[in-house]
Amino acid sequence: MADRYKRIFSLEPNLFKDGSPVLIRAGAVLSDSNTGRLLLQLKLENVSAKKISAVFTSVKCFNVAKESIEGVDDFQYLDLFIKRNVSFGEKTPIILPDSTTRSLIVNIKRVVFDDGEIWVNDGTDNFHPLPELIDVKHMGVEFAEQLEREANKKRPNFWGKFTNLPKQIDELWICACGSLNQNNEEKCFGCGFDKDWVFTFTSPEVLKPFLDEYKTEQAKAREIKQEQG
Ligand SMILES: [Zn+2]
Repeated sequence: MADRYKRIFSLEPNLFKDGSPVLIRAGAVLSDSNTGRLLLQLKLENVSAKKISAVFTSVKCFNVAKESIEGVDDFQYLDLFIKRNVSFGEKTPIILPDSTTRSLIVNIKRVVFDDGEIWVNDGTDNFHPLPELIDVKHMGVEFAEQLEREANKKRPNFWGKFTNLPKQIDELWICACGSLNQNNEEKCFGCGFDKDWVFTFTSPEVLKPFLDEYKTEQAKAREIKQEQG
């Protein structure tokens, strides 16, 4: 079974368009050796506060010479009940009509929410990759560790992890825990930390005095241990 599907190519990860309630986390085109057909498998994610019940997509397909070939005008993911930050779509492959497809452009046309509201893509631009997130260790491992300690000071029951530096992108901000939040949200949906706190405490200048204090305490503790030992 595992050998039945072979990956032909992948999409760039994290495709997004400002205002879209859906992020295209990942996508891959697989060849089905039993039928010879190509399948597009998309991993979509709800990044809006509302539950999603349907998503309409289209796929423009191109052959290896970048010539436009038959694509998919309207593929519907139906009967969904997708909460925020939950991914979906992977188990519902889109069958591509032309098995010579070697690149493609996915578009989210409409998103239906469970309250009946519909988001309609204005068609102004394509989904494009979100900027790559910078690892939190880029600040320096000591600062990344101090950030963890500060997080635990503020929230002793915080068991999450900060993986990347936060980023502001148009209508969204990406938290240090990796969650996407709308600009009108002051707390991260994923980890619950305040936006202000996250952006402030991911700076070495802010962390420096706390790190210095920690090092002094550690040195004192070592001295006491030596005296006792
Ligand atoms: Zn967060």
